[in-house]
Amino acid sequence: MSRVVYVNGKFLAEEEAKISVFDRGFLFADGVYEVTTVLDGKLVDFKSHTIRLKRSLNEITMKAACSDEELLNIHQKLIKANDLEEGCIYLQVTRGVADRNFEYPDDKIPSTLIAFTKKQGIINQPLVERGAKIITVEDLRWGRRDIKTVQLLFPSMAKMEAKSKGADDAWLVNAGKVNEGTSNNAYIVTQDNVIVTRHLSNTILHGITRVAILKCARSLNLTVEERPFSIEEAQNAKEAFVSSSTLCICPVIEIDGQMIGDGKPGVIAQRLREVYIEEAKKSAT
Ligand code: PLP
Repeated sequence: MSRVVYVNGKFLAEEEAKISVFDRGFLFADGVYEVTTVLDGKLVDFKSHTIRLKRSLNEITMKAACSDEELLNIHQKLIKANDLEEGCIYLQVTRGVADRNFEYPDDKIPSTLIAFTKKQGIINQPLVERGAKIITVEDLRWGRRDIKTVQLLFPSMAKMEAKSKGADDAWLVNAGKVNEGTSNNAYIVTQDNVIVTRHLSNTILHGITRVAILKCARSLNLTVEERPFSIEEAQNAKEAFVSSSTLCICPVIEIDGQMIGDGKPGVIAQRLREVYIEEAKKSAT
C-alpha cells in the first residue's frame, strides 16, 4: 500500500518521491534523523525530538532545515494523510545536493528534508511480551554517538550478528562495560531494585525515552544510578531491559546465553512500561 511521504516541501505518493544521487546523505551519511512515536494519532514527546534534532544539526554545523512549527505541520499532515493511529514518523535532514567532495558545500545549498510514516504496533509487540535475547558485541562505532546521524552500518551489522546467533539484538560494549543497544538504551535492575543505566556522554545516544523512563522510575520511588555497568553485572542482575521510542520498554531475558532472573520479562520493567505508556499517552500532542 502506498504511503504519502514528504520530500523537500512536497507531499507525494512514495513511488513518486526521489532524491538526487548527489545527495550528501547518500554519499557521505552526512545527515541526522529523528523517530517520533505516534500513539492514538498523536506525537509522543515531539518537543524533545525537535530539541535533539537541533542539537544534532548544530554538532555537525548544519543549519536548521525549517522551523519547529513547519516540522510539526509536516508530522501532523503525514499522520492525517496516512491515517496513522499507531506507529512512528521517521524524519531525516541531510546537507543537501552537491558534487562529491569531502569539504562541505556552501551553506546556501538547501538541505534535504524527508519524512515518512511507519504503521506498527507500539502497545502490543510480540518481542516485548516474550522478552529479548541479547548478545554483546565490541562497540566499533565512531566516537560521537550522542549525535543521531544516519551512519548506522555498524549497529546494523551488530544486529545481524545477533540474529545469526539466534538472539534478537546486541548490546555494544567497550572494555567489558555496556554502552547501549544497537538502537536503544540499556538498563539493569540490581538485586536491591536499583535501576542502573550508563550516564550521558558522547558514548551513547541521549535517548528521549530514557529521560521519560528515569522520571517514571523516580515517580515509583525507585533509586536510579547513572553509571557504567559490566556484562557480568548485567548477567547477575534481577532484571534487564532496553528503551527506545518505538519499543518504549522491552524486557531482556538473556545476555550471551545467560538467563536473566527467571528468564521471564521482569516485574519492574513491565510496571515501568505501563507507567511510561500512560504518561506518554497523556502528554502526546
Ligand atoms: N541509542 C541508540 C543508539 C539509538 O539508535 C536509539 C534510538 O534510535 C536510542 C538509544 C533510543 O533513543 P530514543 O529513546 O530517543 O528513541
